[in-house]
Order: sequence, then structure tokens, then C-alpha cells
Amino acid sequence: MEAKNTLLLVEDEPHIAEGLAFNLEEEGYHVTHVDSGEKALNALTTNHYALVILDLTLPGIDGLEVCDQLREQGNQIPILMLTARGTEQDRITGLSKGADDYLAKPFNLKEFLLRVAGLLRRTNWQQTPPEKKTYQFGNNQIDLETDQAFTENGIIQLTELEMKMLRVFFEQEGKVLSRGKLLKQVWGMSPETETRTLDNFIVRLRKYFEIDPAKPLYFRTVRGRGYRFIQNPD
Ligand code: CA
Repeated sequence: MEAKNTLLLVEDEPHIAEGLAFNLEEEGYHVTHVDSGEKALNALTTNHYALVILDLTLPGIDGLEVCDQLREQGNQIPILMLTARGTEQDRITGLSKGADDYLAKPFNLKEFLLRVAGLLRRTNWQQTPPEKKTYQFGNNQIDLETDQAFTENGIIQLTELEMKMLRVFFEQEGKVLSRGKLLKQVWGMSPETETRTLDNFIVRLRKYFEIDPAKPLYFRTVRGRGYRFIQNPD
């Protein structure tokens, strides 16, 4: 069961819980249902959920208190609060306790499902910022997803090892990387290993990307120390 698709439903009225769980599962979510605030807090300390659907009026610890405690603990899980009370003040109280969204019963099922999807989308977006998909240096552009290089020499399909080496250089742009370090980070070899392979790779990268491979601007040799990649040479 994947945590990113598992929702915790906290609702003490069995028929409402059943109906919501059924419809959420129809949408492809996994649902864990508990019927009290205590059980909700327990479940949340032992398991990971993508979202909590939290009824406000519960026996014992109510929804507001659950919300409050979670946020006090630093738990930032998205919370959709459900309540029979629909006054503005209730809504404000719920939101000020850290709920992310609020829906007053009786609500439209479709709206409920849209709000769940909306909250999940927002958190997914927050948790996984879009990864940078290309890397540019000079007139070279590397597509980090397809491993293709767009260069003045045309489009080159890079091998896995070439990509690995480029990533090591890009991530440590401007730093001198010793042969030993490069061998270890790209090939996983110990520094004592033959360095000829590495030097051949550098020759190849220069052929792909340098305007004049004999006078490299990007993949530079640092005499006696190793290599250095410069993204924006003067
Ligand atoms: Ca209730």
C-alpha cells in the first residue's frame, strides 16, 4: 500500500464513513477509517498518510483538538475538515487550528472528491518541486531525461557512463575533481585503479562539447590535480 495514496478518514458516524470510504476507493484511493480523535492521533503517529479527512464533532478529542495537536507536533499533513456546523466562525476556527480546507455537511460528493484531489495535488507539488530537466553550458544543452546532448556537432545520444560523469561535473561545477574522486564517483572504483579510461572519457567529452578540443573551455585539466568543469567560462 502506497502512502501517497492512503487517506485517513476520521468520522464517528458509520453510515457517513462508509459512504465516503466507498466513493474514495472508487476514485482509486486507499482509505483507513477510524471513529475517534484518539485513534486518529495514534494512527498518525505510527503510519504515513497523504491526507486526513477529519470530522469536527467526534466523541472525546474532537476534530479541532486533533488538528491542534498535530500542528503542535509539527505534523504538516494536509487536513480537510468536515463539519455539520457551517458558520463562518467555525470555518475560521478550523482554519486557524491548521486545517487546510473546510467543508460543511451536508456537502456535494463531487465537491468533496474535488477538494481531496485539490489538496493532494497541492501537497504533491510542494513536496516534489519540478526537477531541472536540462543543463546548459555554452551552446550545449543536455536533456537530463533523455540523455541527449544538443551541440554544435549535432545531437548526441550519451551513454549511461557519460551521463553519470556529466552529472558529477555539473553538481560540482567549478571545483577541482581529482582523478581518484572522479573514478570513485563515476565508476565506483578505488583511486588506485587505472586512470586511462577516465582520461579517454574526458577526451570524448571535449570532442562532443568543446569548440576546440585542444583548448578546452569547459572540461579543463588542472595540472597535477585533476579536472574542473566550468559552466560559464569568460
Ligand atoms: Ca461527527
